[in-house]
Amino acid sequence: MSLPSSAPRVSASQDAVSQVRPGDETRPIPLQMAPRRRGKPPRHFADLSADERVASVVEAGEKPFRAKQLATHYFTHFTSDPEEMTDLPAASRAALAETMFPQLIRPTKVMEADGGTTVKTLWHLFDDAKVESVLMRYPHRTTLCVSSQAGCGMACPFCATGQLGLTRNLSTAEILEQVRAAFRALDRGEIPGGPARLNNLVFMGMGEPLANYKAIIETVRTLVAPQPDGLGMSARNITVSTVGLVPAMRKLADEGIPVTLALSLHAPDDDLRSELVPINTRWSVDEAIDAARHYYEVSGRRVSIEYALIKDMNDHGWRADLLAKKLNARGKGWVHVNPIPLNPTPGSIWTASDREVEDEFVARLRGHGIPTTIRDTRGSDIDGACGQLAAEEDDE
Ligand code: SAH
Repeated sequence: MSLPSSAPRVSASQDAVSQVRPGDETRPIPLQMAPRRRGKPPRHFADLSADERVASVVEAGEKPFRAKQLATHYFTHFTSDPEEMTDLPAASRAALAETMFPQLIRPTKVMEADGGTTVKTLWHLFDDAKVESVLMRYPHRTTLCVSSQAGCGMACPFCATGQLGLTRNLSTAEILEQVRAAFRALDRGEIPGGPARLNNLVFMGMGEPLANYKAIIETVRTLVAPQPDGLGMSARNITVSTVGLVPAMRKLADEGIPVTLALSLHAPDDDLRSELVPINTRWSVDEAIDAARHYYEVSGRRVSIEYALIKDMNDHGWRADLLAKKLNARGKGWVHVNPIPLNPTPGSIWTASDREVEDEFVARLRGHGIPTTIRDTRGSDIDGACGQLAAEEDDE
């Protein structure tokens, strides 16, 4: 990805050994709805609507049409570098770019796996909060996993980010800057396989996207707006993943933007789910599944149920049966299940289910007519897989 020389590139083979922080296993993590830090990043071009961009350019003493030029540089050529904006007057180029594109995120470490087709980037934000994003290139598509918050307040005990607590929400531009960097790296041929576009975006990095609703919905609007007003992505290729914040799931349905919704369920019964996904004490399994079904009805988009298979925790045959029963009770063809073998996180006592147990779990769901696909654990060798993002600079 576009890097200053200060960001060291590390490949999987040189990867730092995961550090177990003493006390991780026992420290109780409280649910946290409000961020610890409230400082706001500077306003950036990507925070603005098309109208606001024009107003802001005029305010900076430029002609209104400059807004379109800047948008083209940013959203079509993926640059915020004044040197590359040769259609702007040389005298005001640098000042304009500085006002419109303050540097919000700085890559400080890049780790690669899979021959450079999986790239995890650690970003430092203006206030030194840290987040990570992971770019994954497959033969016929490219996917970026972005962070929507620094840390996370949802406290899921099997997730590395959940152990950090919530530092703060990211702004729209802080999220879009992660996306622009990916588009740019692909466009410039920096990822092996030749120049490409970003096809898929998943809000499965750090944070609970629906707890940062306003910023993520504005991000989605810009992702789907045609170039040069936005990045021209297809809504169906954008996945918003949630622990099940029911009111926000319903609000998302009302937006009328057919993004894919993923519900991180991890257990079909309230007793266990309240342990694995603490927000379940607020909105139960049934309420979360009802909201997912509602999303399908309003958007027509098939919903994904995420289910990390944790050995001897949630991987029992009867739980697969109960999950299928609850999903089928709400109709056919509206949902599919994505089990994923648990990715290990530092200090956790839990491991992935055995292969036969995983196979049995999948077979039972399919047997009940539920489309089921095992999710891949790409990036696990650089702690870049689902649930492993902890934004640590542990080897410097
Ligand atoms: N907060 C959102 C999005 C971030 S996590 C959510 O929970 O949905 C993205 C996905 O990774 C979620 O389905 C989450 O439950 C899952 N996940 C978290 N930790 C994991 C781990 N250790 N192994 C596998 N999946 C994990």
